[in-house]
Order: sequence, then C-alpha cells, then structure tokens
Amino acid sequence: MKRRSLFKNAGKLGVGTVAAAASTVVAAPAIAQSMPEIRWRCASSFPKSLDTIYGAAEQMAKRVSEATDGKFQIRVFAGGEIVPALQVVDAVQANTVECGHTAPYYYVGKDPTFAFQTAIPFGLNARQQIAWMYFGGGRELMNDFLKEYSIHSIPCGNTGAQMGGWFRKEIKTIDDMKGLKMRIGGFAGQVLAKVGLVPQQLAASDIYPALEKGTIDAAEWVGPYDDEKLGFNKVAPNYYYPGWWEGGPELDLYINTSQWEKLPKHYQAIVESASAEAHNWMIAKYDAQNPAALRRLVAGGTKLQAFPTAVMEACFAAAEELYTETSAKNPKFKKIYDAWKPFRSEQFLWAQIADNTFDNFMVRQYRANKL
Ligand code: CA
Repeated sequence: MKRRSLFKNAGKLGVGTVAAAASTVVAAPAIAQSMPEIRWRCASSFPKSLDTIYGAAEQMAKRVSEATDGKFQIRVFAGGEIVPALQVVDAVQANTVECGHTAPYYYVGKDPTFAFQTAIPFGLNARQQIAWMYFGGGRELMNDFLKEYSIHSIPCGNTGAQMGGWFRKEIKTIDDMKGLKMRIGGFAGQVLAKVGLVPQQLAASDIYPALEKGTIDAAEWVGPYDDEKLGFNKVAPNYYYPGWWEGGPELDLYINTSQWEKLPKHYQAIVESASAEAHNWMIAKYDAQNPAALRRLVAGGTKLQAFPTAVMEACFAAAEELYTETSAKNPKFKKIYDAWKPFRSEQFLWAQIADNTFDNFMVRQYRANKL
C-alpha cells in the first residue's frame, strides 16, 4: 500500500522530491537514537590564564559540541578546580571525571614510562613526536601501557621545543648546577639529579611564589609566551635555551576506558578529530605568539643565553645512563625505550638533511638582516 501511494505522489511531486521526503521520514528517528545526550567533565592540569595550553582542551570540547549539534558536551575545569593539577591520572583512573587534559610526564613518580608520551630528555621534536605516535607505534604502545590505569589516550597538543628556564645565577659549567633547587617537569628531574641538581615538581600556579621567595633557585615552564604571563622574568634574570628535556612535549586527552567504550563509534571519531585539530591549534598558537613575547622579554632586560655545549653534553651522558639503568629495572620502560630509540635515530638521520639545512640557512639570512 505504502509503495503504491508513494508512486502515486511521485507523479505529482517529481521523483527526486519523493525520494528526499522518504529518506527524511526514515532517517529522523534513527538520528535521534544515534545522537544521545552526553555530558563529560574534563580536568585540565593547567590554569585558565595560560590560554594556549589550557585552551587546547576548550578548543577540543568546542568542536565536539559543534559536531554533535550540542548533544555531546565536554566541560573543561582548570587545574585545582575539581581535581588537583597534578592528579589528573588518578581522577580519570577512578572515573571521578570522564577525562582529563594533562602532560603524561607529570606521572613519572608512578612509572617513568609515562614520560614517553610527553617527552624524555634529548628525545624527539614536535614533528618527530607525532610521527612516532601515529606511525612509529607510539599510540599502540602507550595505550597498551595505560590499560592498567583504565585510560585510553589521544594526542591533544604540543608546545614545540621549550625554553630551558629561568635562573637567578648564570650557568657556566656543570658545577653551577650542583645543589640548585629547580622546578622542572617530568623525567628531566632525574637526569639533572645525576649532575647534582635538586628537582622540584610544581604546578604552573605554584612556581612564581616559590621562585620569588627563593624556595627554588630556578624554574622552567614552557616558553616566552607562557613564561612572560607567569612573570618569571621579574624574579630571575637569566633565561636559558633550549629546554633539551622537552624538544617537542605532547599533551594528551586521557579518557577513562569504560567511558570511551560506552561512546557511540561516531562520537569516538569526533573526539579523535577534535583532538587532532586541538593538537595543531596549540602548536600553531604558540609558534605565532612566542616571537613577540621573546622580543618584549629581552627589551625588558631578560638575559637570553644558550646552555654551554659542555653542560648539555654532560646532561646528555647522564640521560643515556639513566635510560640504561631504568631499562634494567623496569620492563615496561624497557619495552617502549627499545622500540623508541631506533625511531629517534632514524628521525635524526632524515632531519639533518632537509629541515636542519633549510632552518640553518634561513637563520643565517635572518641574522644578516635579509629577512
Ligand atoms: Ca617545561
């Protein structure tokens, strides 16, 4: 009966119109069912004032909402609002929040293996890091490691190579590192401990007061744009580069596995795409904002200087030693390190040819006032 009445109407309305009308009638209830209303909370490790590193989670959430016509809402909370900044893994694991946005290397105290997902000292630059994640087995290895924490992870941001941080006193030799109390993120603290430094892990908002009071002698955070906002230039004059412990540190969306598995497949795809976009968004925003911030800092009296090569070489040797020692006692770390290390070698085999030559040539043109 229905068929016949459709064909009858076809004569009046034209076939195309009927086909469109029919598909609307069939599809509407199906769409309602496949677009469930979902509300998630996302605990960030970062303060709202750091609009780029914090902003990436908001960017991701905004896209998820837009792509689902507002049906899937992810509300982002700043570090400390509902979860302490450095306890995002614990909260996601316990399902206190559905997801979090954090730097996995904050959790090296639980297991140093976390560091591979952000950065390990003398590791990969930002492009190499995402190449490892997408095509070098990184995502599979990290998500396998994260199973015991009930976490599914998605890359969601990168700062690009960071600065080495702010020091009250100049660093001329490796001996100047001895006894120095420094806020430093991730696995790097253990490398620097080998050369006598006393590492401290502090969340962004706690660094300035500690440096101002003299509780710490040095601090690193990210780079000119963020560091200027946090005001470190007001309390420590010497700004060193590069942050050899963070050549291309990644941020991740950490999602409770049971929550991830409950999501409809197309919502999963939307979260995946929104995170990839936020990843690009963050690094683009930092790259666009850092030059002007650096110019302002130097104009304001900041003494910009490179770490002496001998200091970096001593730290490189300490890092390699630490990786060998950690591999000997931690099979999870060893499994990833053994897969990661040849990838790093291959990346620098290639990077030295085109990128490095091009970048160096262009820097020489810049220094000769030709740009
Ligand atoms: Ca840092």
